[in-house]
Amino acid sequence: MNENERQVKSITPKSEDFSKWYLELVQKAELADYTPMKGMMVIRPHGYAVWENIQRLLDLRIKATGHVNAYFPLFIPEGFLKKEAEHVQGFSPQVAWVTIGGEEELEERLAVRPTSEAIIGHMYARWIKSWRDLPVLVNQWANIVRWEKVTRPFLRTTEFLWQEGHTCHETAEEGEAETLKVLDMYKEFCETELAIPVLSGRKSLREKFAGAQMTYAIEALMSDGKALQMGTSHNLGQHFSKAFDIKFEDRKQTLQYVWQTSWGMTTRTVGALIMVHGDDSGLRFPPRVAPVQVILVPISVGDWRRNVLPVAQAAVNGLRAAGVRVSLDAREEATPGWKFAEYEMRGVPLRVEIGPRDVKAGQAVLVRRDTKAKETVPLASLPSRVPEILDSIQAGLFSQAKVFLEANIRDAADYQGFKDILENQRGFVRAPWCGGEACEDRIKTETMATIRVIPLDEPEGTAEGACVCCGGQGKAVAYFARAY
Ligand SMILES: [Zn+2]
Repeated sequence: MNENERQVKSITPKSEDFSKWYLELVQKAELADYTPMKGMMVIRPHGYAVWENIQRLLDLRIKATGHVNAYFPLFIPEGFLKKEAEHVQGFSPQVAWVTIGGEEELEERLAVRPTSEAIIGHMYARWIKSWRDLPVLVNQWANIVRWEKVTRPFLRTTEFLWQEGHTCHETAEEGEAETLKVLDMYKEFCETELAIPVLSGRKSLREKFAGAQMTYAIEALMSDGKALQMGTSHNLGQHFSKAFDIKFEDRKQTLQYVWQTSWGMTTRTVGALIMVHGDDSGLRFPPRVAPVQVILVPISVGDWRRNVLPVAQAAVNGLRAAGVRVSLDAREEATPGWKFAEYEMRGVPLRVEIGPRDVKAGQAVLVRRDTKAKETVPLASLPSRVPEILDSIQAGLFSQAKVFLEANIRDAADYQGFKDILENQRGFVRAPWCGGEACEDRIKTETMATIRVIPLDEPEGTAEGACVCCGGQGKAVAYFARAY
């Protein structure tokens, strides 16, 4: 066993210590690394390649729904942030400030953007004059800084990457429709590309975005039973348009404030991929976002460079022509066994092995990362068979995660039952809630759980049964969970 082999095998099993498993995997699979600045991570090439795939596939959807990309400044004058009272109150504990430029003290300090509503609102007030200028459907891909006390790579970092959509509409109805359209887009994206099933719905007012009228979210269940917010879509109403004076002349020539939305999805999604799909051997990336979908490992025995390598290279070319992201590892300093463990840990969905005997038989051995099942395939069929297997892996990871999610949504009969589920089983607890913040606060203090979403098909005010906490009249059925 060489040094590398020992390293591969030293990951703490997921079942033994989930948090340790996660942190070790992030580093050993070279997704991210720590820096001397607390809470700031480097996204390494293997992790960044996943983010690039997420970006590309989400950007396609953002554009297909009529949005365009733009870029706004990193700094926001303090006065802008203060214009929307709830917004500044919500974000001020997390804002980093620039007070000196070069060697001069600034007259007004600048916030490093914790989100861009304020600067974008200021610009929209200049650009929007008439109903003919609407809707404005703009998205930005950017970095964000929020000073965090407790951090964890990908899940909560002081600086992170995201996209933020900022739209303006003529009517309240159009704003609400946009908010829900984006929520659906996020849900479809997570399920199709990330193979992560989600619950979608609205947040309670306590959990909504600072300055929003209503926040909607999609929530996924990590394999340790904790929830993770995957994306949010906010109906801002006229809160920011009144604060930033974004007015337009409507079709009857009266001045009106625009109706706005904002929505975002971040590098947290990479953390979700690790926590939803990973196992004791390492990562299991869904093929659609995997940096490398297929790793071809030639079996290095005998005169393999002459007998096997050209066949392996031809197989790689054939797969590339079929649109597969494939890589060939012909390094001589590492054994096939080490390579197998390494690529399993790095989450490559499918391994192709070709040895001297396979060459003679005109075949290759395929090993799936998700089930570790083996299959022998004629070399000539690789370009047709491999994409089929990749689709099957994508579908298999999704259905595995969906079975897990569904098995971990439980109804609570009473408050004791509610507490027992969160203590012993975790997952989502579905329960009626009276709508009161006092109960939300008590639940959070006593169980560490929060309302993750209130499903949209549960209209407010019609819940059956009593509030799981106070026993008062239930107003909505909510999904509660402990969350990252
Ligand atoms: Zn209550």
